[in-house]
Amino acid sequence: MLDQRVAIVTGSTSGIGQGIAEKLVAQGCHVVLNGFGNPEEIAALRERLAQDSGRRVLYSDADMRRPADIQKMVDWTIAELGVVDILVNNAGIQHTDPIEAFPPAKWDEILAVNLSAAFHTTRLVLPHMKQRGWGRVVNIASVHGLVASVNKCAYVAAKHGLVGFTKVVALETAGTGITCNAVCPGWVLTPLVQQQIDALAEREGLTQEEARRRLLAEKQPAGEFVRIDQVADLVVYLCSDAASAITGAALSIDGGWSAQ
Ligand code: NAD
Repeated sequence: MLDQRVAIVTGSTSGIGQGIAEKLVAQGCHVVLNGFGNPEEIAALRERLAQDSGRRVLYSDADMRRPADIQKMVDWTIAELGVVDILVNNAGIQHTDPIEAFPPAKWDEILAVNLSAAFHTTRLVLPHMKQRGWGRVVNIASVHGLVASVNKCAYVAAKHGLVGFTKVVALETAGTGITCNAVCPGWVLTPLVQQQIDALAEREGLTQEEARRRLLAEKQPAGEFVRIDQVADLVVYLCSDAASAITGAALSIDGGWSAQ
């Protein structure tokens, strides 16, 4: 369906981003991976995806906190693969603390990775997409782009901002063959959420299983984690021609969290 399209997926060395990259490669895309991690593991991931698919799978170590790195990543993608058809802004970080105790440097970092990076990647790829009359920008926001939780001021502000940014991109690209949408997952069991489970288990003296159940019970009525492959399938759908009329949307995939 997306055969020979070129995609950049930020933060794709782990969790949801890796799942999205895997699905896009399986659909026939050439993909630029990005994110931090063990260089050998990243090389192994890159080689596995390329070998299984026969597609080009590259890796950029661009730090999403740094606009100059983002520029280099996009320029390099164009130099190596010629175009960028699909941009998935997925890289994200979390920190939890009440506002008065929230470290200002963490606020800046979360805003940089979870929000400003999407502005920089998008502003750099849009001219290429416009030239070709086709493009897909998918922003991995969060249910926290729609509703709030305590102790997550920077994350909630950044994700609400990302949903707002998504709408502006949609309006500015309307009628050009480009769509821009936000995906808003509830709890997905990835390293980002595992940190919060570990903290809860330690704070309350719970087992891992008890902490997981407590986390879900607090927010997610379905009582199950959303699976990475379910989020990735939604992204693939948004990239398809079937979704060409969907733009400016913030689609929740959250086991009922935001329905409450
Ligand atoms: P994760 O920690 O497994 O993956 C995060 C990825 O971002 C990693 O590849 C990491 O290396 C990369 N990254 C972090 N800082 C970076 C930087 N400065 N530059 C480049 N890459 C960087 O987390 P995840 O749960 O897979 O999260 C992916 C996205 O999904 C995030 O935007 C997150 O906010 C969002 N999300 C996650 C959940 C959840 O429950 N896990 C729910 C809603 C939204």
